[in-house]
Amino acid sequence: MIVLDGNAVSQKVLNQVREKVTALDRKPHLVVIMVGDDPASKVYVRNKQKAAWQVGIRSTVIEMESDVSEMELLDKICELNDKKDVTGILVQLPLPPQIDKNKVITAISPLKDVDGFTPENVGKLSIGLEPYFYPATPQGIIMLLDEYNIPIEGKDAVIIGRSNIVGKPMAQMLLNRNATVTICHSRTADLEDKIKTADILVSAVGKKIVRCKMVKNNSCVIDVGIYRDSNGQLTGDIDYDYVSESAGFISPVPGGVGPMTIASLMYNSAKIY
Ligand code: NAP
Repeated sequence: MIVLDGNAVSQKVLNQVREKVTALDRKPHLVVIMVGDDPASKVYVRNKQKAAWQVGIRSTVIEMESDVSEMELLDKICELNDKKDVTGILVQLPLPPQIDKNKVITAISPLKDVDGFTPENVGKLSIGLEPYFYPATPQGIIMLLDEYNIPIEGKDAVIIGRSNIVGKPMAQMLLNRNATVTICHSRTADLEDKIKTADILVSAVGKKIVRCKMVKNNSCVIDVGIYRDSNGQLTGDIDYDYVSESAGFISPVPGGVGPMTIASLMYNSAKIY
C-alpha cells in the first residue's frame, strides 16, 4: 500500500508556483474576505496567507463583522472586481445566516474566482470547456492522482458527498478524464455495495464512513473529510487501519488532501486574466 504524500506533492506544486510568480511582470494579488470570527475559518485563512507568502503572492485579508449586511458584502465584492491590482477574490465560507452564499459567489468576477465556484466557472466545467479556475480541492486531488500516475480513464470512481465545493466538481473532473462516476450521498441505498465497486474512492463527508474492509483490492482511496474526533484528534472519513489492508493507495488525514487544496489554491491564485 502506498501512502499518497500530500505534504511532499503540495510542496512540489508550491515550488512551481513560486517559480512562475517570480517570472511574472504583473504580480498576483489575492484578496480573502472573512466575515465574522469563526475559529476554523481563521485557521484556514491564516494557512492560505502563509502559503501565499511562501510563493510570493501578495495577499490581503478583509475582515468584516458578523452582522455585516449582504449589500455591504456585495458592494465590497463589486469594488474588488473593478480593482485592476486585485487578481483573485475568495470569500471564506461559511457565511452568517443573513447572507445568501449563492448571491455572494455569483457576484465574484469569474476571472477572479480563484475558488472556481461561480456559475460561469462551474458551467464551463460541466459542459467540458476550460473554466478560468477549477475548484481547489478536486483540482488538488487530480494533481495528487497524476503525481502518482494513478490511471483515471476507464476506471470506476465512487464519490461520497455531493457538495458544490468537493463532491460535484470532483465527479465532473473525473468524468472529464473519462472515469465512470457514481455519486453517493446521505440517501444512497446500499452505500457499501457501491464503495466496493470503486477503483478510485473519494470520501467527502465529515464523519467516519468507510469503516470496515469495504474497499476493492488495490483501489485508490482519497480521504477529503477532516474533523476532530471525540478526543480532539484530527481525523478523516476513512478507517485507515482497516482500509490500508486492501487499498493500493491511500491519502492520509492529515497530510493528504488538506495541503493539496492549499497548493491548488495557490496554483489558481498565480493565474492572472
Ligand atoms: P458537506 O457540504 O458537509 O456535505 C457532506 C456530504 O456528505 C453531503 O453530500 C451528505 O449528503 C453526505 N453525507 C452525509 N452523511 C452521509 C452518509 N451517512 N452517507 C453518505 N453520504 C453522507 O461537504 P463538504 O463541504 O464537501 O465537506 C466534507 C468534508 O470534507 C468535511 O469534513 C470538510 O471539512 C472536508 N473538507 C476538506 C477539505 C480539505 O481541503 N481537506 C476541503 C473541503 C472539505 P446529503 O447531500 O444527502 O446531505
